[in-house]
Amino acid sequence: MSGIYIHIPFCKQACHYCDFHFSTSLASKSNLVSAITKEIILRKSEIPKDVKSLYIGGGTPSLLSLQELTTIFHSLEKVIELRNLNEITLEINPEDINEEKLDHFKALGINRLSIGVQSFDNKVLKWMNRIHSNQQIIDGLNLIKKYKFEDISIDFIYGTPSFLNRNYGIEISSILEFDPSHLSCYLLTIEEGTYFGHLEKKNELKSINDLQSEQEFLWLSNKLQSKGYDHYEISNFSLNGKYSFHNSNYWKRFSYIGFGPGAHSFIQRKRRWNISNNAQYIKKIDLENVFYQEEKLTTNDFINEIIMLGLRTKNGFNLETVFKNTNADNKSRLIEKIKELINKKLIIQKQDYIIMRKEKWLLSEYVSIELFTI
Ligand code: SF4
Repeated sequence: MSGIYIHIPFCKQACHYCDFHFSTSLASKSNLVSAITKEIILRKSEIPKDVKSLYIGGGTPSLLSLQELTTIFHSLEKVIELRNLNEITLEINPEDINEEKLDHFKALGINRLSIGVQSFDNKVLKWMNRIHSNQQIIDGLNLIKKYKFEDISIDFIYGTPSFLNRNYGIEISSILEFDPSHLSCYLLTIEEGTYFGHLEKKNELKSINDLQSEQEFLWLSNKLQSKGYDHYEISNFSLNGKYSFHNSNYWKRFSYIGFGPGAHSFIQRKRRWNISNNAQYIKKIDLENVFYQEEKLTTNDFINEIIMLGLRTKNGFNLETVFKNTNADNKSRLIEKIKELINKKLIIQKQDYIIMRKEKWLLSEYVSIELFTI
């Protein structure tokens, strides 16, 4: 089953940790919406037939006016049957939640909201340069509850420096009071090109150490599991089977098509990424010039993705699928490597599946690289 992703590259202000593609200048917003609607029509024939999910992310999609969002939905209706989709997700920030928007989202068929909460602590929010306050989160989540959205996902960031003195127990309890069906908990990483990256270069900020990260990760995992959440992917937790259908399809390497600047697509072993520059994207779409780069995955790339994406999930990756697609040399090297990583207590083998040990899950990237075929 395939999915559609739409990238809305605007934000009111830049969060200090964020390296996504976005602009804080909203001047080109309506031109960009027109360009996205044109891209949808231009690429109509590439849209996989079995699309079952739509995810509108960013950036901050909740910055779109109701008219702009409707325009995007109208152009999607020309190319797919929106009513046949299992899941339509929209990312929304707490400060944008109001009755008018929620009414409109319902009318458009949006059945899942992903809310950028990040923390319940005002000093942490301020430190990250988030716009919203703890009170806006509470008001927004109460309103969403009133509107009875089927699925609510909350984004949360942990692994912040200890001088912030966070009380994760209180923050998580505050979140759970709203019974979200899904939580995405991300370890803060300091990325080059962000304000935090700039501070790190000047030795004014550094990431917490691996032991601390592991302790916070395990605390969150155990806490949420004790409340009935299934820790189904390294950063994701679902209640009553309400996992993210759209994102789960990424991890299963199903096809997806992405519209908008910086959006990625993956169709028939081809990866494509649109230009990450709003002005150039608008211009190139207008002139119908090439607005993307693409590459065809080699067999090794294909296997490495199975390994890397599988290790992010609680089910791991299927060894037989990997063996079927690789040569004898790679196969014997993998068998040795797997033995070594099992002895190091990083992974386990369950029948044909190789799975990260939960307490070492944060090392999945390192383990993937160790297992990569070349
Ligand atoms: S974290 Fe979200 S709201 Fe903040 S800058 Fe990044 S995309 Fe925008």
